Amino acid sequence: MNKYTFTVFLLLALVAPHADALSVFACEPEWGSLLHELAGDTIQVDVGTSALQDVHVIEAKTSLIAKVRKADLIVCSGADLEIGWLPQLIRQAGNSKVASGPGYFLASDQITTLEKPSSLDRSEGDIHPQGNPHFQLDPNRVLAIAKALDARLVELDAAHAAEYQKRLADFSTRWSAAIVAWQAKAAPLKGRKVVVHHLSSVYLNTWLGMEQVGALEPKPGVPPTSAHLASLIEITKSSNALAILHAAYQDPKPGEWLSERTGVPSVTLPFTVGGDDKSKDLFGLFDSTIDKLLAAVK
Ligand SMILES: [Zn+2]
Repeated sequence: MNKYTFTVFLLLALVAPHADALSVFACEPEWGSLLHELAGDTIQVDVGTSALQDVHVIEAKTSLIAKVRKADLIVCSGADLEIGWLPQLIRQAGNSKVASGPGYFLASDQITTLEKPSSLDRSEGDIHPQGNPHFQLDPNRVLAIAKALDARLVELDAAHAAEYQKRLADFSTRWSAAIVAWQAKAAPLKGRKVVVHHLSSVYLNTWLGMEQVGALEPKPGVPPTSAHLASLIEITKSSNALAILHAAYQDPKPGEWLSERTGVPSVTLPFTVGGDDKSKDLFGLFDSTIDKLLAAVK
């Protein structure tokens, strides 16, 4: 081994996760980012989807199956968000470690969900029987999930328990301070009305005191129709709506159509980590979301 190859070898040994590092599959980017906060390079993380994909409908591709096959832990939103593809991924991966038990972590099991329907009527559209699964935009729920996820990492990888606990303490301090700052900054949003694309902002609205007055989808999961959009013109105007919101992965056209007819701005929110340039991690996601909403305040 010459000096150069030895140096390369040494660098690889330093940066590569340990061969026995915990392998984690995160269904969505927000949980990948949270895992990075809680574990840094101690674990190896694969994120299954991006901010530009609709996580309700993901294809159970071979590449995803391979990632689930080698995982010690999977971390997903739950509340049936991934019902169309995650069970299939787990079944095809044939990895009993992540099918149930400690290797199976659903964020929805750690919190209470909003909008849990009292009856299950499929004619009401693609409703989520376990409540609304789009809770990543409530920072308080994210903190509760962080604590539970950290405990799970400790359970599965006791050798690094001290590191996980130290990182959780550090994250909690920075996150709690950020929540206070975000709430102060977002004060002008309180009481403002918004029109949403899909029912994906209820947690954000509840946290910041905003109110949804309409949805571009006539029923959850059903694409906007021109008749339904036309029916929103009056309420969008009369409620003096702040904005018409859609996520980075959604078609902006229905919102733009309504915007042109009402003068209310159409705003693209990142929705999760990677949804825009500023949303490089969970902190950036909330910074960007609040800045984009505030930019709509006249
Ligand atoms: Zn949904």
